Amino acid sequence: MAKDIDWGSLGFGYVKTDKRFVANYTNGAWDEGALIDDDTITMSECAGVLQYAQTCFEGLKAYTTEDGRIVTFRPDLNAARMADTCKRLEMPVYPEDKWVDAIVQTVKGNIDYVPPYGSGATLYIRPYMFGINPVIGVKPANDYQFRVFTTPVGPYFKGGAKPIVIRVSDYDRAAPHGTGHIKAGLNYAMSLHAIVEAHEQGYAENMYLDPGTRTKVEETGGANFIFITKDGTLVTPKSDSILPSITRRSLMVVAEKYLGMKVEHREVLFSEVKDFAECGLCGTAAVISPVGKIFDHGNEIDFPSGMEEMGPYTKKLYDTLTGIQMGRIEAPEGWIKEIA
Ligand SMILES: *Cc1c(COP(=O)(O)O)cnc(C)c1O
Repeated sequence: MAKDIDWGSLGFGYVKTDKRFVANYTNGAWDEGALIDDDTITMSECAGVLQYAQTCFEGLKAYTTEDGRIVTFRPDLNAARMADTCKRLEMPVYPEDKWVDAIVQTVKGNIDYVPPYGSGATLYIRPYMFGINPVIGVKPANDYQFRVFTTPVGPYFKGGAKPIVIRVSDYDRAAPHGTGHIKAGLNYAMSLHAIVEAHEQGYAENMYLDPGTRTKVEETGGANFIFITKDGTLVTPKSDSILPSITRRSLMVVAEKYLGMKVEHREVLFSEVKDFAECGLCGTAAVISPVGKIFDHGNEIDFPSGMEEMGPYTKKLYDTLTGIQMGRIEAPEGWIKEIA
């Protein structure tokens, strides 16, 4: 029985659900893992995660398709990305097939919290891992916990996707040769001051430039950029310090294979941004947030698509990808993982 929740008025906040998956890594091996009821964690005051921030995460969604199936979107890519993240953070990899199975188990355990088709709401899934044993000398933890919880979240855009205004940030998100390409909690800790300041100044997000030269576009705190040229080419920035968004990688396929667009994944100079026709941010949460304006220290870039609605190419990309996710459009092989 679906829970008695007003799906349409849910925000993006934590709502405790019934079950969570927990696996422990001790003596160099993962245990079997299990679904449990307890939503709290007890650990040493000296746990590695609390001292040296050895923690990483992923984010994906479960939702109901038009024909009533409960599915997730490309969870194998989240599993692979978390494996890459763990290697960079000297954490043990949770085997990728078992990782996807943990997602399936957790969603099944909270199946009554999966919002119905058409509500715009989804069940957000948060897999994460952290060092749990006492660590005081700077070194990786020996013991880890891998957990997955779910929380129902509301429609990202209430009343349509309005273009946002962003600023070019004076802060960097990631160092050259650093950790920008992995989903580490520490990247988010670094971005909090910059986003609070941006919000205080009236901007929805920060555009970060490459930390080495400050001439190339990187991404925002939690989403990759897509740009559309005046002749309808999808251009998306390439850099070793950008987090490889699964939404962005999927949009590149949708643009080329479904919409017949030209796609360029390359370095994007900030100086060419003013010449693009459309701009958007892409990530699991919103799929695409259209950008209407970018402020750069007194200079303003206004995209021709304006401040009222998504540009036409962005809209087609958005409608096609969400159509694939919701089962209205046939998905490429392996993109939709059926749970129930
Ligand atoms: C998670 C994340 C994204 C979006 O990735 P998706 O896989 O599309 O959800 C983009 N940038 C950063 C920094 C992220 O952490």
